[in-house]
Amino acid sequence: MKTLKRIGLVAHDNRKNDLIEWVIWNYEELSKHELICTGTTGRLVEDALLSKLPINKHSQLKITKLKSGPLGGDQQLGAMISEGKVDMLIFLWDPMQPQPHDVDVKALLRITALYNIPTAANRSTADFMISSPLMKGEYEPIVKDYAAYITRKV
Ligand code: PGA
Repeated sequence: MKTLKRIGLVAHDNRKNDLIEWVIWNYEELSKHELICTGTTGRLVEDALLSKLPINKHSQLKITKLKSGPLGGDQQLGAMISEGKVDMLIFLWDPMQPQPHDVDVKALLRITALYNIPTAANRSTADFMISSPLMKGEYEPIVKDYAAYITRKV
């Protein structure tokens, strides 16, 4: 991954306030990177960043809003990770409430583990990630070699 990161941002409804507070706290660093969000999270993140950035920097904000999570946004994000299009993920999922798209949430988390993508499920991990010296340089996550899996005999 390059110096400018492609950062996935997702928060379940009960955790959206947490994420937006975190985004506002880190708006200067975050707005240097490319952001990829599920739909509703993305709208809130965009509004928060635009409210902090001076008007002449608004056009520099790079944010992609996918579908809303329960409508397939988590799956879109997972597909992007498998295609090497997302470098890290801040995913504040709700530990207290079942979600209609629980299976999609699980699938997204599985894909982050499979592709060794730095993933934060809470604000303190997100703080450690965004303040890491690795944010400022290039970094290549080691992905396990699955060649034997692909060529296996069935
Ligand atoms: P949302 O989706 O950003 O559209 O609310 C998040 C999720 O529930 O995965």
